[in-house]
Amino acid sequence: MIETIKTEADYCSAYTRIDGVNDRVLSAMQVIDREEFVPDAYKKRAYDNGPIPIGFGQTISQPFIVALMTNLLDTAEDKIVLEVGTGSGFQAAILSCLVKKVYSIEKIPELANASNNKLRKMGLNNVEIQCGDGYNGWQEKSPFDAIIVTAAAPYIPQSLIEQLKPGGRMVLPVGEPYSHQMLVLVTKDKQGAVTKESIIPVAFVPLVSGNVDGKPFI
Ligand code: SAH
Repeated sequence: MIETIKTEADYCSAYTRIDGVNDRVLSAMQVIDREEFVPDAYKKRAYDNGPIPIGFGQTISQPFIVALMTNLLDTAEDKIVLEVGTGSGFQAAILSCLVKKVYSIEKIPELANASNNKLRKMGLNNVEIQCGDGYNGWQEKSPFDAIIVTAAAPYIPQSLIEQLKPGGRMVLPVGEPYSHQMLVLVTKDKQGAVTKESIIPVAFVPLVSGNVDGKPFI
């Protein structure tokens, strides 16, 4: 899996303008076993470089995309990160190896509970999971050094930009559900000015917000 990530990172570097995935991120991806995060029926495909269903119409992301998104953030040891879309807990587990604290929000209670139990069992105690709508971020724990959103919205939620620290970075897929989406890197400089940069086309499940059961975000 690690070799595939490296190869794909090289292959996509013209797009991403990133020279490979850094060693800290790669070693976190080696330490955290993806097999633990996929349902029994898919264990054989655990190390394939593709998304895998995790139930409730959701997926665990492709390993290369997990590595790329993690690499785009500043994941130094003292950082505090917000993830929107805990899903299987895999991305949160990777981040937990790298940063001081991970806050993660998941809308589907069954996924939030299962991920919480899994991470506790693995001893990854610097991750706090909340079940709820992450569209508005997590105000009480903000501001964050980095924010990662693992579901796609048609535009960047303003509250997430506000909850990013000056000097912080946010990575998220932007686009219509099941249509063209772009991975976007948002950076906020020390003075608070925000810059957006397109990285690579992606395909994510939709960010669902509000009380509109099952309906994509509006
Ligand atoms: N990071 C995950 C990928 C999860 S897929 C992993 O490593 O497995 C995206 C997740 O976002 C789904 O579990 C979905 O339920 C969740 N989601 C969608 N809209 C959300 C919202 N508004 N708030 C929180 N979670 C949301």
